Amino acid sequence: MCKRKHRAQLLIAQFFCLASIGIGVGYLTARAFILDQAERDLLKTAASLMARSDAASEEARNVLTAMRATRLHSCSDDELSYFGMLVFRSRYLRDAGRISDGGIDCSIAMGRTKERILLRSPALVQPDGTAVYPRIPVFQVNGLSAVTLQAGGDYVTFSPHLMDSVETAPAHYVITVPDPHNHQTDGVVGTLPNLPGNDLSQNGLGRTGVKLYATVCSKRYYNCVTTYVSIKEAMRIERRYWLGAISSGGLAGTIVAFLILVYNRRHRVLAQQFRRALQKDKLRVVYQPIIDLESRRVVGAEALVRWQDDFGEDVSPEVFIPLAERLGLIGQVTRAVLRQSLRDLGELLRNQAHFRLSINVVAEELTGPDLLPLLEREADLAQVSHQSLAVEITEGSTGCHMALADAISRLREKGFAIYIDDFGTGYSSLSYLRDLSVDAIKIDRSFTRTIGTQAVTVSILPQIIEMADSLGLQIIVEGVETLEQADYLAAGPGHLLVQGWYFGRSMGSQEFCSLFEQAAPSGSTLTISVASVAKQH
Ligand code: C2E
Ligand code: MG
Ligand code: MG
Repeated sequence: MCKRKHRAQLLIAQFFCLASIGIGVGYLTARAFILDQAERDLLKTAASLMARSDAASEEARNVLTAMRATRLHSCSDDELSYFGMLVFRSRYLRDAGRISDGGIDCSIAMGRTKERILLRSPALVQPDGTAVYPRIPVFQVNGLSAVTLQAGGDYVTFSPHLMDSVETAPAHYVITVPDPHNHQTDGVVGTLPNLPGNDLSQNGLGRTGVKLYATVCSKRYYNCVTTYVSIKEAMRIERRYWLGAISSGGLAGTIVAFLILVYNRRHRVLAQQFRRALQKDKLRVVYQPIIDLESRRVVGAEALVRWQDDFGEDVSPEVFIPLAERLGLIGQVTRAVLRQSLRDLGELLRNQAHFRLSINVVAEELTGPDLLPLLEREADLAQVSHQSLAVEITEGSTGCHMALADAISRLREKGFAIYIDDFGTGYSSLSYLRDLSVDAIKIDRSFTRTIGTQAVTVSILPQIIEMADSLGLQIIVEGVETLEQADYLAAGPGHLLVQGWYFGRSMGSQEFCSLFEQAAPSGSTLTISVASVAKQH
């Protein structure tokens, strides 16, 4: 009762935890996405503003050139009406006039000024000699200040609505002109944000703790545009994104929690069922023939364990063997397989001196203390010679050389044979095999599959066979499924044993024994009739 309550609490905690992680991941992903998007938008807006600024600068310079070229009397009616015509035809200018000694003499808007209007804002003189007056009160129109450009004695004033038709929201912007004399950046239009000064005169993106900004500088003139937005504002505007991401993150977290729950449950149920099956001796053993390729005789069998779960479904050994390992039950599996196969094939093993049964074990068993006594005890009880039994270990498990080499030599001293299973899939080299001193290698079926395909030309199968042969190792080629593969192997070097569906699938002990008897009534080693065996499962 208490355990169940504890499990339920654990479950709720797990759901809560994963959902929170999902929400957190969703929020961070959305935030990164939104900020990225906002930066791209800032850059786009800055580029649009800069295009407008360039067009206006070009127009201003053209008008200033035309003003300078006039031969009309300075500040005369004719000149002012000529200036008026120039400004009237322009798109971005509002006023034009004459300037001297830091004061305005006349302009289209103000006519000839009785008292000279002195320009209070300091001018930024650009490298081409034009001066910029960022904000001049006298030119304010409806409270807006306008920028004035002066070249010699002429000046033009931009429209205060110059940038109005450029879509900028939600970004704010500032147009700056770097001052070449004091290396400072001054805002000409807009408010200077609190950003690192240097970044306003360089193309690119930037981020402070609270703001994002992008700067684009003119390629033709001396000004830059910086657009900026606060992170808070960007997040608020794109709320739908992060709300969506947070909810999908939360949902994903909950789904993951649910899948973990289902997996854990299935795993627990499977583990319980497997434990019961082992206790009740419900594991079955089937046998797959191993054939001498030259004589086509059966010279051995591999014992393969089978298990059906409580619903009668076959569970692959590739699933329940690792499970047994995790549950610490692998030793019991090996004992059950060994006992059953000695019961099943004991007579055959006693009568056929050259027939060998191989069983699969995992590396931990080989180096552990129980395997050798178990093999000795069971073989002696069944009165089967040690030489008739082989132990298969997977090549992938041949990691800890010293311990394995010791264990292997102890087993071999007692007469048991050692096969390296699935050879070629792990890390061992043939020289390393010499150190381990095993009896045979079983070449993994992934190599056999390359026979008859393009890959066979680059396949290392022939090299493995030749080198293993030169080391005096017996070679068993696994996974022979077709006549073509059998013929290819038969035509190649080495004295090979083979195993695979072409020669026989795994089968029950009765089937295996009756096949053996049918094919070899005299009691000699079975000469395989491929056609009859290949049908078996
Ligand atoms: P393994 O020892 O390499 O066994 C060979 C596997 O290849 C067997 O799969 C066998 O049915 C399959 N096979 C044989 N001929 C062919 C063929 O021509 N084509 C194809 N595609 N497959 C073929 P199975 O029985 O599913 O066993 C899978 C693995 O489970 C075995 O690989 C072995 O590593 C492990 N295993 C099986 N029985 C035992 C056992 O009693 N104890 C331990 N520790 N592991 C076992
Ligand atoms: Mg094997
Ligand atoms: Mg194998």
